[in-house]
Amino acid sequence: MNIIKTNSVLQKEIKRYKSEGKTVGFVPTMGFFHEGHLSLMNIAKEKCDIVVVSLFVNPTQFAPGEDLDIYPRNFEKDEKLAISAGVDMLFCPDLDEIYPKGYLTYIYTEQLSSILCGKFRKEHFQGVTTIVAKLFNIVQPDIAVFGQKDYQQAIIIKRMVRDLNFPIKIILGPIIRERDGIAMSSRNKYLSKDERDQAKIINIALKKAKEEFDSGINDANIIKENIRKKIQTSDLARIEYIEIVNSVNLDSIKRVKSGTFAAVAVYYGKTRLIDNINF
Ligand code: AMP
Repeated sequence: MNIIKTNSVLQKEIKRYKSEGKTVGFVPTMGFFHEGHLSLMNIAKEKCDIVVVSLFVNPTQFAPGEDLDIYPRNFEKDEKLAISAGVDMLFCPDLDEIYPKGYLTYIYTEQLSSILCGKFRKEHFQGVTTIVAKLFNIVQPDIAVFGQKDYQQAIIIKRMVRDLNFPIKIILGPIIRERDGIAMSSRNKYLSKDERDQAKIINIALKKAKEEFDSGINDANIIKENIRKKIQTSDLARIEYIEIVNSVNLDSIKRVKSGTFAAVAVYYGKTRLIDNINF
């Protein structure tokens, strides 16, 4: 596996592969790899000749006071895991390489970026679309793979790709979970033992919502209220939002239908966890 730190070296390598007729699959990440990340790398590997993974903790998607400074990092472990997943190039640029002095340009996808998580993390999605657009321009992949765990992010990226004519196919990988159902996340590391134990209620509540829908209940308010009640049985949980939305423009819906989804954000202490389920 080639570890690359600069745009110019990466672009030279990509150009060479493309001149050989090879297809390029791309997985953007912030590192501290778990099986969720690896599953996306595997999808890219299945679909393309060459897999590029970026590892960059992107400061523009963190608000002041969020966890940028303490975001978990373990480069040696990530390197080994990426090798085991068959990654060809691990792109880990320094901050200056991505945001050189005097950087001024940002990309913002309206509407979709100011609802759900965007309501509470005001500039988050602008940071996400900006870094992903930059990485798309640097890597120029044929496909890029994102996790359904960050469903709103994936929908926003899809819209940005459509609106800005990026010639890139976006593929979504399923949420990979721990054995007790909690969605894998680099941030799970922040949880205390009690918080970690109680946080499994989030997925239990979402699965119960799906069962309710499957048994014929389709009133979104009832399903939302039942999710809330279930999560509130965990005394350490502080719910930020519970929403049921359609999967195209993330509008809130009154009647749950197949293809819509429930999304939640819940704090345990200072740790913010998100999860979702498709009906
Ligand atoms: P991150 O490093 O947290 O920015 O995530 C990088 C990519 O991995 C994003 O596309 C995430 O949606 C995806 N991802 C994170 N956690 C999971 C998970 N548990 N299952 C599947 N994909 C995930």
